[in-house]
Amino acid sequence: MCAESMRLEPVEQISRIAGTTQTSMRHALEWRCPDCDYFEEVEGQIENLSPELQAWIDK
Ligand SMILES: [Zn+2]
Repeated sequence: MCAESMRLEPVEQISRIAGTTQTSMRHALEWRCPDCDYFEEVEGQIENLSPELQAWIDK
């Protein structure tokens, strides 16, 4: 299964602001599988988050 080798990766999520042509971007984390294209959005707090990834989210 993918789950065992999933890695946390920083991603930029771009979303359209409803009713406008504007977009907003936020820094988020995703679980990504290094062996295939599978990914999963991270929900909630992550324990033992590395300072680098925490800094990414806070940007
Ligand atoms: Zn996989």
